[in-house]
Amino acid sequence: MLIIASSNGAIGIDQAMQALKKGGSALDAVEIGIRLVEANPDEHSVGYNGYPNIIGELELDASIMDGRTLDSGAVALMRGFPYAISVARQVMARELPHVLLAGEGAERFAREIGAEHWGEMLTDEIMAVWRKRMTAVGATQWVARRPDDILVPADDAPLLDWVKLATDPERVEGTVNFIAIDGKGDIASGVSTSGWAWKYPGRIGDSPIIGAGNYADNRYGACACTGMGEMAIRAGTARSLVLYLKLGLSLGEAARRAMNDLRDLGGDFIGGMNLIALNPKGEHIGMSSRAGGSYIYQTEAMDACQERAREVVEIPARWGREARE
Ligand code: ASP
Repeated sequence: MLIIASSNGAIGIDQAMQALKKGGSALDAVEIGIRLVEANPDEHSVGYNGYPNIIGELELDASIMDGRTLDSGAVALMRGFPYAISVARQVMARELPHVLLAGEGAERFAREIGAEHWGEMLTDEIMAVWRKRMTAVGATQWVARRPDDILVPADDAPLLDWVKLATDPERVEGTVNFIAIDGKGDIASGVSTSGWAWKYPGRIGDSPIIGAGNYADNRYGACACTGMGEMAIRAGTARSLVLYLKLGLSLGEAARRAMNDLRDLGGDFIGGMNLIALNPKGEHIGMSSRAGGSYIYQTEAMDACQERAREVVEIPARWGREARE
């Protein structure tokens, strides 16, 4: 039994391991671990109290994948429900012939299955950070939102300009990744995020896109990503890594190859990327485009998780057309 996670998963990894030890499935462990991160008010890149989009709304993305069957479930742009990973799991588990529900449809589904609803998911502290950031980029067109009179961007505010200024490569980022192997050798992976801070409304990242931010296959292994989701979508990163394993590459070679594919991406917007991955033998690895990153892992023989450094494949960041000129 093994669980690997991004380092912000530390709050949930032990309970996830206890679930495995009691005979729980890899899917259970992934869901349990991620829920604890989603509920953590101090984690501003996942679930409750995450950083909002450019108009001050929290839109959550999540996905889960079952390595036995390659079944998966995902939600995107979901508001008001903290446990996006549980709703994603129910998209997979209910007899619904769909994989990904977004926006109002995801919220309707969450209500229909009785998912926990918290409504307001942002603290005053986070809204103050958001407003300060908006002021710093020169956002001036605000209107009072009735009935609470909170100031929000006007309908005709130039969001396109604001978003370009606010979401530079140094923006606040983060996502939680969990991958588990249970006592039967089944593998599951899950990802949950509030996405980039200050993203354009309606922007969907890699986290709910199976094959981009998340992929699990019992036969070969699993991979999950954090970082600039647009890059993982374009390179199909999680699926690529698992496909490289299927083609016979070692875990290290497959992970380096998937990172190199990201480095090969052209275009004007290239930021940081990270991934974690494992194979059915229980070998695991973390990669990052920047030095100093780590991830965590725990086996059934360990009382607590341990941290391990991520291997670095540098991906030089560039931001906007000016960066190329
Ligand atoms: N991958 C996430 C996204 O693009 C954010 C992050 O991990 O920083 O939405």
